[in-house]
Amino acid sequence: MPGKMDDIVALCRRRGFIFQSSEIYGGINGFWDYGPLGTELKRNLKNAWWKDVVQGELIGPDGNPVDIVGVDCTIIMHPRAWVASGHVGGFSDPMVDCRESKARYRADHLMLLGARGEAASQLFAFVSGDDKGLATARKKLEKYLKRSLADGDLEMRPFTAIGADERAIAVGPDATEKGTLTEPRQFNLMFKTLVGAVEDPSNYAYLRPETAQGIFVNFQNVVDSSRVRVPFGIAQVGKAFRNEVTPRNFTFRSREFEQMEIEFFIRPDSANEWYAWWRAERYRWWQSIGLAGANLRLREHDRDELAHYAKAGAGVCDIEYKFPFTDPDFGELEGVAHRADFDLRQHAEHSGKGEKARYFDQERNERYFPHVIEPSAGADRGTLALLCEAYTPDESRASKVFMKFSPRMAPIKAGIFPLVNKDGMPEIGERLWRELRTSHAVEFDEKQSIGKRYARMDEAGTPFCLTIDSQTLQDGTLTVRHRDDQRQERIAVDRASEWLNTAVSGA
Ligand code: ATP
Repeated sequence: MPGKMDDIVALCRRRGFIFQSSEIYGGINGFWDYGPLGTELKRNLKNAWWKDVVQGELIGPDGNPVDIVGVDCTIIMHPRAWVASGHVGGFSDPMVDCRESKARYRADHLMLLGARGEAASQLFAFVSGDDKGLATARKKLEKYLKRSLADGDLEMRPFTAIGADERAIAVGPDATEKGTLTEPRQFNLMFKTLVGAVEDPSNYAYLRPETAQGIFVNFQNVVDSSRVRVPFGIAQVGKAFRNEVTPRNFTFRSREFEQMEIEFFIRPDSANEWYAWWRAERYRWWQSIGLAGANLRLREHDRDELAHYAKAGAGVCDIEYKFPFTDPDFGELEGVAHRADFDLRQHAEHSGKGEKARYFDQERNERYFPHVIEPSAGADRGTLALLCEAYTPDESRASKVFMKFSPRMAPIKAGIFPLVNKDGMPEIGERLWRELRTSHAVEFDEKQSIGKRYARMDEAGTPFCLTIDSQTLQDGTLTVRHRDDQRQERIAVDRASEWLNTAVSGA
């Protein structure tokens, strides 16, 4: 459904949700900026996560309140932390370079096209899922064979399944000559930078590719400095960076993005119950902020998909959303994983702290490395899912489309409009705006016709418009216009604040 996605991207730009980073210079691939509305939306998402999950009133499977504390760690950490975590050695995708076009492709994304039953002397590569690329490869093949081919004549094979002989006759997706694609090579996804003035490999450091490791390296500090006792969690929201080979699908796969992560430390023998509890809780939370319905699903990973540390664990699952660009498939919003004691042990070993770094459980009078359940969510993917879910075409409206955010997520909670610019209406409106803005994101607008002002608010996803009209002057009431069904009701101006509090918090 690419048309719908194009429309969403256009609305995001037009209304100031999301812009391409450095747009005036032509943009930079894989980086995105949030405009005024997008900033509020993403902040509402992150605040809801912090309030509901970290400071929330959750009750765990043991019947006790769930205890979580926060940290805010640096983006650049000691480089050895990334050796311990496995990122320096393993955080890479096999890549293929094209010597002719200089383009770089993920090896597992490349497919080769040939003709069935034909002794191949040339094969044509394309990126899987790229329909235009496939059409181009097909044209090249037909031109090369000097005949047109039916769909049934085509044969496709993954690039990773071929050997050197066939690589020598493969033509790259953006190339004209054969044999210009290299063997797949490892490509590290971490951004490298230099700390200090001297350009020397000993000064290399990395921008963190996940916020999780800042939590693990501070485990002991948090235990020593606060009252937490296993089971408890440490949470962090912050930027992460990955030099993704093919950033795509708007903000879904970016090179700079924000994560909301919890490492929840538990006794090793309670992994099954805590994993099952977090899995259900995280799914429920995404539903609670407006992603209910068939577009959200929970998918348990197959055993053979699992990372090495997770194979023996209680499980790994993804909470996924059906984005217009993945439809009918789904894309990951959050992963929930039982990581056992892998990370704490790795850091204990690499930092030289060894067995001393084990946690002392006073109740049981024993030392151990706690196991970890990790719910790891993306704030940008979450924001994108909210945008896609909210997007509602409606030909009967002046705006032709409205954004159906829940009042809690909506960037602007209410628009405040004097119907006309006279008879004291603007003054009443402005007074009300000054009052409401102390507790809510509200907008005062006195320009243009009331229909145009409603249309602007529909596109911004504002759930309520409060209009001061001639009846206000007589009886002190105003009109509330509800975004979704355009229903109108009257409430007292001096009760508007209380009314809005209930309307926003009750949803
Ligand atoms: P994918 O398989 O899609 O690359 P991942 O499994 O590598 O994702 P994790 O390492 O589990 O992702 O990261 C946790 C969360 O961080 C993801 O669920 C996602 O919401 C977010 N995330 C990861 N990579 C990106 C990215 N390139 N752009 C935006 N968000 C991302």
